[in-house]
Amino acid sequence: MIKRIAFISEHASPLAALGGADAGGQNVYVGELAKQLAAAGYAVDLFTRREDPDLQRCIEWAEGIRIVHIDAGPPKVIAKETLLQYMPAFREDMLAFMNEQRISYDLIHANFFMSALVAMELKAILQIPFVVTFHALGHIRLLHQGDNDRFPPERIAIEEAVCRKADNIIAECPQDREDLIHYYNAPEEKITVIPCGVNTEEFYPVNKRTAREILGLPEDEILLLQLGRMVPRKGVDNVIEAFARLNHKATKMRLLIVGGDTDTVNELERLKELAIRLKVEDRVVFTGQKSRAELKFFYAAADLFITTPWYEPFGITPLEAMACGTPVIGSMVGGIKYSVADGQTGVLVSPKNPGMLAHTIRNVLRAPEQLEEMGVNAVRRVNRMFTWELVASQMLAVYEKVCGRQKVLPYEKSHLY
Ligand code: UDP
Repeated sequence: MIKRIAFISEHASPLAALGGADAGGQNVYVGELAKQLAAAGYAVDLFTRREDPDLQRCIEWAEGIRIVHIDAGPPKVIAKETLLQYMPAFREDMLAFMNEQRISYDLIHANFFMSALVAMELKAILQIPFVVTFHALGHIRLLHQGDNDRFPPERIAIEEAVCRKADNIIAECPQDREDLIHYYNAPEEKITVIPCGVNTEEFYPVNKRTAREILGLPEDEILLLQLGRMVPRKGVDNVIEAFARLNHKATKMRLLIVGGDTDTVNELERLKELAIRLKVEDRVVFTGQKSRAELKFFYAAADLFITTPWYEPFGITPLEAMACGTPVIGSMVGGIKYSVADGQTGVLVSPKNPGMLAHTIRNVLRAPEQLEEMGVNAVRRVNRMFTWELVASQMLAVYEKVCGRQKVLPYEKSHLY
């Protein structure tokens, strides 16, 4: 019987403000999953890097959940691309915490490749089994970002070793599973597809007029929404370019862009300049970061949620939009082509193709009845397939399986990677 679970999420803490360069889906994932596990009676300790000297070592975040701040590298926010060098310190401080507290864990759930490296080493030392969710894969990032990818090249070898040593690998969607097999030769029998979820107490349908009133937005305009981290791979430029091709003045249309932080100012500036160059700056509104409590009003106020990343390991924002009853036009990539049912809850398009996106937006807006039906289907689909309760119950089945058949492996450092 599993009782105590360690989550490792080296750069993504549920305490972080979301919307910056490195704070998004993974922060939500570890926080929401931990909440579900705690509600089911498990004790969860969530280990994350100390990013501020004033943070307490151990915070009782909610009943059954502690957030443990690990000293690994300077106690300030630093880009995740530079964190690998601090993982030995991370491992040692985790061991120190376990010693101080005289506790061990039945299982580790590692998030991202650097946490997985720590988990792999802890397994070798303490024989604790581990499950990994990569959240993103180095090979895929390299494929799309090329020379702009600043992660150290060792990432790939670490991911390969993790695929060999993990007791189970959580793929977030069928595409993720295929990539793990194709690029990493991950053993198929060790992969379980479990999607991300959405918190339906946080995201639910709100009357469109009410939502617009709350946000001070006009009632009679077509509202398109883009929401997320402002990083180039999210393809926000593609949405602005498509918007510029629409007859936005004649039809009174507005594009709201929510998200962005001080660490993504360059991308925000680039996007604002693009809007000016395309002469749509009066119709494109950059709102900046918004609080979690406000997001549902943005989703609900919009006629369409648009997200066209180059690639997407999963993508929680389309789920949030659908939970609020808003159809999604999304890239036909990764998790989006799994979460958005093409023609039922939205429409899938090719990324980096503003012409096609503009054409699709036009078509969808021409059929308001169909749009409304898509919104209804969207809420239904999310509640049937993508709640955190469902995610947690699938995850618990994996945990039980892993702990039931755990074999003790000898510690041989040379075999780690
Ligand atoms: N988010 C937020 N405020 C922002 C931008 C994003 O709260 O200004 C949240 C968003 O609601 C979602 C998460 O960050 O829950 C982004 O997750 P997703 O999986 O879509 O993208 P990722 O950040 O993992 O690339």
